[in-house]
Amino acid sequence: MKREIYMDYAATTFVKPEVAAEMRPYFTEYFGNPSSIYHISRKNKMAITEARGKIADAINANRDEIFFTNGGSESDNWAIKGIVSANSGKGNHIITTGIEHHAVINTCKYLEKHGFKVTFLPVNEYGIVNLGEIEKSITDNTILISAMFANNEIGTIEPIKEIGSLCRKKGILFHTDAVQAVGNVPIDVKAMNIDLLSMASHKFYGPKGMGALYIRKGVKIDSLIHGGAQERGRRAGTENIAGIVGMGKAIEIAVKNMDSESNRLSYLRDKLIEGLLKIPGSKLNGDKNNRLPGNVNITFDSIEGEILAMALDGAGICVSTGSACSAGAIEPSHVLTAIGLSRDAAKGSLRLTIGANTTEDEVNFVVNEIGNTVLKLRENNKKWQQIKD
Ligand SMILES: *Cc1c(COP(=O)(O)O)cnc(C)c1O
Repeated sequence: MKREIYMDYAATTFVKPEVAAEMRPYFTEYFGNPSSIYHISRKNKMAITEARGKIADAINANRDEIFFTNGGSESDNWAIKGIVSANSGKGNHIITTGIEHHAVINTCKYLEKHGFKVTFLPVNEYGIVNLGEIEKSITDNTILISAMFANNEIGTIEPIKEIGSLCRKKGILFHTDAVQAVGNVPIDVKAMNIDLLSMASHKFYGPKGMGALYIRKGVKIDSLIHGGAQERGRRAGTENIAGIVGMGKAIEIAVKNMDSESNRLSYLRDKLIEGLLKIPGSKLNGDKNNRLPGNVNITFDSIEGEILAMALDGAGICVSTGSACSAGAIEPSHVLTAIGLSRDAAKGSLRLTIGANTTEDEVNFVVNEIGNTVLKLRENNKKWQQIKD
């Protein structure tokens, strides 16, 4: 029987059976609209409050600072558009980094077309943004700094606490896209001086199409979705109760297991890195130490990542590449080029992200399979023959 090995947990995760079990009755039995006054709706209202509390606890926020959305992209859009809209009287300048998720980058590019000025900060070769650079780019017109907590491609964890205290000192609002960090690394919005934080449930074994935005009490923000008075008048639309319950359960499990799971994944991650770096002409991308426990990103010389990934798919292994198909052409990742990789090197990169079901046996199998496939793909490659000799 062919093996199926999933190593793309940064793209999405499966829903844990305990999470799905908790969600199920909210589709069939407890279907009432939480805004209604009768008894079957009261239970739903309570379930929402309970889930909101679990999410708040996970990041040391207060319950009334958590607002449900339909995912990471909506949370990023709301944070950025909502803040600049409510604070445009104070200025029109946004600072962000060049390695953000497209939900942040494309939101900022959209705002550029509407008269806002955006600074996209460079990062160093490990993907870490420089505090001095942030400070230098602040002007009297800066109203928001948006910097991701951990990068989804190379796994680099940013100095969020330091960025937070700089923003607080300068009186500038600070948003962080923490979609890859929530459930994987400890987060404390108070200690880290975070004003807004985005998360997505399907990155920590909850359902897809479900997310939240933390908005610190007192922060002035406009709504993105106008309509009814749900989410205390800030985000309209009948609540996705099953999704909310699932997200609450998923975050509860993630927080409870964080220490042990992070140790287990870091160990497997380092085994994977060690094994893959034994392949000639390979190089690790990202920071060796400030790195998400489940992230591996490697460049192979003289290899087309797309072809390698397709060959691995043929062997039952699911991984991502360092490129994306945009407008029909294969474009190298903006993250890999931002850390200094050439277009070819970026296209020759593979992202392997491990998670809950990953075993040591899978890691060994994948190292072996990639080693053999890379060797085979290079057989008739003249460029590689020259580099090698
Ligand atoms: C997945 C991801 C998003 C988008 O989240 P969705 O729930 O898919 O909209 C945003 N930012 C980062 C860093 C991500 O990894």
